[in-house]
Parts: sequence; structure tokens; C-alpha cells
Amino acid sequence: MFCQSVSTPIVKPVNGLCNLSCSYCYTSGLKMCADKNRMRPEILGATIDFFCRDQDDIEFIWHGGEPLLAGLDFYRRAVEFQSAWEQQGKKITNFLQTNATLITSEWVRFFTENDFLVGVSLDGPKKFHDQIRCYSTSKGSYDEVMKGIDLLRQAGIFNGIICGISTINHKFPKEIFNFFLAENIKKLKFARVKSIGHYNNISSLVISPAQYADFMIAIFDLWLELDDLEVEIRDIQSVVSLILGGNKRECIYMGQCAQFVTVYSDGSIYGCDSFPKTDALHFGRVLDESVIVRSNSHLQSLQALLRKRKESCQTCDWYFICKGGCAKDCYKQIDSVEPLSEVCENLQRYFEHISTKIGSYGLI
Ligand code: SF4
Ligand code: SF4
Ligand code: SF4
Repeated sequence: MFCQSVSTPIVKPVNGLCNLSCSYCYTSGLKMCADKNRMRPEILGATIDFFCRDQDDIEFIWHGGEPLLAGLDFYRRAVEFQSAWEQQGKKITNFLQTNATLITSEWVRFFTENDFLVGVSLDGPKKFHDQIRCYSTSKGSYDEVMKGIDLLRQAGIFNGIICGISTINHKFPKEIFNFFLAENIKKLKFARVKSIGHYNNISSLVISPAQYADFMIAIFDLWLELDDLEVEIRDIQSVVSLILGGNKRECIYMGQCAQFVTVYSDGSIYGCDSFPKTDALHFGRVLDESVIVRSNSHLQSLQALLRKRKESCQTCDWYFICKGGCAKDCYKQIDSVEPLSEVCENLQRYFEHISTKIGSYGLI
């Protein structure tokens, strides 16, 4: 698939509005404006049109806050708008990332009928998950999340787990890995809990790049030892694929950060959701012509910066995997060119470990 800048939207139909109150939530700064700023039908229609107009193969990623709070009618309208483009031959895929606590059989029926792929956030066993992913009453959400996962699995539309790794659970890779296997959850993505701009104040939960690399190396070893191809760990599969000469990549190894954009409920388009909502990454609105957005000066600056970063990474032995890394995680500031040595050292240690282990199996 040809990917140009501003082509994969992460859509936030209710901005940061959510029924949970997770302690590390980075969208809390967006909650205040959420209620009065639910995405209106004309903005939804403009969002679909903006991304379908000049691409043949489009992926919509519905995100939050909690995207189910937009309501079923919102998504019924979304697929109606999309069907007009599908009739013109466009291929559209819908991914939705939810906390799963609001999933009902009605939602499952809709997702099944409309081929949505639904990912769920779950931070491992109940004793870890419930310490962080709670309601505002501090009650943990684990039981409701597992019920939601069961409904999605029964319908065959469950698209795996994103598991946040924080100070609460990073020392327990084996327990977490075995928990997911015992629950027959075989599609996993791990994500380091980190500080994002001014949206959170969670330093007690943030782990360092070294702690995260230790966790991921332990997970890789467990995965290799298990030798079960049905167990998919997205980051590890990307790295293994690239070492073996394939091209399967997560966004963090694509070097294409300008491809991913966030669409807020008022139709404004900003850089990838990993960044705080900042003027420097405001590229325009879905109501604008795409040519205007793609020539926006902030976008041009980001693209120029990404090019400079790639140039400065060319001498790195792991450039063929990392491609300059995640534009958010690998750099101190939004305009830094040199990557953070602490992040690079640990990425390189992780790549080296995987490469050596694969080599010892005679695969490279
Ligand atoms: S479910 Fe997501 S959006 Fe909601 S509080 Fe938790 S981290 Fe934030
Ligand atoms: S900034 Fe990071 S999370 Fe966002 S698209 Fe780039 S690599 Fe992915
Ligand atoms: S590991 Fe660091 S130096 Fe190497 S490509 Fe990635 S960001 Fe660049």
C-alpha cells in the first residue's frame, strides 16, 4: 500500500471523554471539552471524505477517550458515509481500540456486520490491571473488560490486546505472558507507560527505556521458548521479520510518522496521537482541501525534521529496523534531531538480543 503523509487517521469522536479514570490516562486534558465537542455528523462525513478522496486503501482507527461513548448511531452513520466510497471501489478497514467495559451484544452485532476489528486495553492479570485501569470510584475494571473480550472473541472480531507496562507490572514478564496464554489471548502488543506532554502527571507509573527493554527481552525469550506461531507479539514480530529480510513493521519502525494523524471531534487534524495536542503539529481541518493540509507549514516542518533525523541515524547498525525510531519516544523535544542516547542504547540492546538469539538458531 502506498502511504503518503496524513493518510492514516486516528479519529477521536468524543476526544478524551471516558467512563474510566485510569491513573496513567494521557487524554485527561481533553476530557473537559469532550461533552460539548462530540463529533457532529457533518464533521464525521467530512472526515470520511477527506481520507477516502485520494487513497484507494484506507484504514480508520477509532480511538478515545472511549470511542464507544460516541454511540452506535454515530458508527452506523460512519459506515453509511464509507459505503458511498466503497461503491467507488475503495477498500476501507475499521479498527477500534476500546476499554471493552461498554461492549454489549448489540455492539458486537454491529461490529460483526460491518467487519470492524476491535482491540482492547488490558494490563495483565486482575491484580495489576485493577490498580491502574479503574472507574472514578477506584473500582477496577478487570471483570467488565474480560466479559467484553469474551463477547468479541465469540464473534471472531477480537483484534488483540494492548497491555500497558508500568512500574506496577514491568517486573513480572513471565506472569503476564503466562496469564495471556492461560486466557487464550494470543495477539498482544505491549506499550511502555511514559509521560506525554502536559496531559498527565504520572511519574510514579512511568518506566525507563532500560526497564522496558528488560521487559521486552524477557518476553522475547519466553515467546521463543514457547515456539507457538499462533502467539503474535506485534513488536517482536516486526523486529524478527526485519532481521530475516521481511518488511512487516509497526509504526515505530516505519519512519513514516507523518502518515499517522489524529482527528479531534471538531475535525481538526494534528500529528500522531502519541504527541500532546500542540500548535506545532496542527496541520489543518478535515473541512479543508487535502492539498492545503498536505502543504501546511507545520506538516512540512515535521517532514523536514523526519528527513534530518533519518540522515543522522544512517550510521546506526540498526537503522534497517528502526529508521530513526518513534518521533515521540526517541527524541527529547519535538524539534530535536539527535535521538536520546538512553532510548537508542536500549533499543539497540533489544535488537542485538533478538538478532543473536535468532542467529543461534541458524536462521540468519
Ligand atoms: S480507558 Fe483509555 S481513555 Fe479511558 S481513562 Fe483509561 S486510558 Fe484514559
Ligand atoms: S510518533 Fe511514534 S507512535 Fe506516532 S506514528 Fe510515529 S512511531 Fe508511531
Ligand atoms: S536506534 Fe537510535 S540511532 Fe539507531 S536508528 Fe534508532 S533512533 Fe536512530
